[in-house]
Amino acid sequence: MDRSATGEDVGRVVAAAERLGLKAHPIPGAQRTAVGITGNKGAVGPGAFESLPGVLEVIRVSHPYKLVSREFHPEDTIVSVGGVPVGGTRIVVIAGPCAVETREQTLTIAREVKARGADLLRGGAYKPRTSPYAFQGLAEEGLKILAEAREATGLPVVTEVLDTETVDLVASYADCLQVGARNMQNFELLKKAGRTGKPVLLKRGMSATLEEFLLAAEYVLSEGNPNVVLCERGIRTFSDFTRNTLDLSVVPAVERLSHLPIVVDPSHGTGRRDKVVPMSRASIAAGADGIAVEVHHKPAEALSDGPQALTPDMFSELMDQIRPIAAAVGRTA
Ligand code: PEP
Ligand code: MN
Repeated sequence: MDRSATGEDVGRVVAAAERLGLKAHPIPGAQRTAVGITGNKGAVGPGAFESLPGVLEVIRVSHPYKLVSREFHPEDTIVSVGGVPVGGTRIVVIAGPCAVETREQTLTIAREVKARGADLLRGGAYKPRTSPYAFQGLAEEGLKILAEAREATGLPVVTEVLDTETVDLVASYADCLQVGARNMQNFELLKKAGRTGKPVLLKRGMSATLEEFLLAAEYVLSEGNPNVVLCERGIRTFSDFTRNTLDLSVVPAVERLSHLPIVVDPSHGTGRRDKVVPMSRASIAAGADGIAVEVHHKPAEALSDGPQALTPDMFSELMDQIRPIAAAVGRTA
């Protein structure tokens, strides 16, 4: 829409699309609103909208993903997670334990990362574990602990949702729903998470192509929820000196193809704490909008992902090291 288009102009475009049996998705931006129109099997041409008041241009999106594409929405999307903007000039730092283990553990780590500069608290109450005998998470009790940690620190909470049954419960506690790598193509979960309207942190599947990753995000947007933060967390390759291979080249690729913000998780991306600080620096240098890292005050006792957890002091070191890199690429941290 034109910069000067009114809400009424947008409403007219939406109504015109609906009259034609199509679905309209208005996505407001800082400069202008874009209205995505999906469901067109090719029969409706641009003429149906071009002459409506407030319409600047009608673009056919050539990619299979539509609403997430930069063709459709040229401006960067800034997602607000509990009031913290993700995708602006400021780098966002998401930090916390892999799993919520106890009240004391989560509150301790939340206070440590808050004092050392984190913007958002992460921590899983529902854990997708390779082994059914491994710690599966505290479920709702864990969500309550996260809510208490938010109260205590002011940090908005990012936490994983594993299945459609618990989406509404998790959404009632979380500021941002994490959809993990193993669920990136759980399409029913993506749709249901999308319908909550809550921001979604969508992690790249461990063997997902860029197109599959963006189409997964499209599921959330197609439910009327534009608040998706993408997350690169490493992919499976033959290389085995790290847990996964962090594919940083996806960052500039996403930036070109999509308006959505992308953060990098170098903790799962490497699986080794000594690699987390250098790969955080590299992530910011590559243009990531933020990083998500695991921190534990007693990593040797962690119930999951201890080998990749930073100590609080290492997390401070990370914060010190990413600031000059952020400045070098025109950002702040
Ligand atoms: C996590 O962030 O705790 C997690 C399980 O990550 P991933 O889905 O990337 O493996
Ligand atoms: Mn983990």
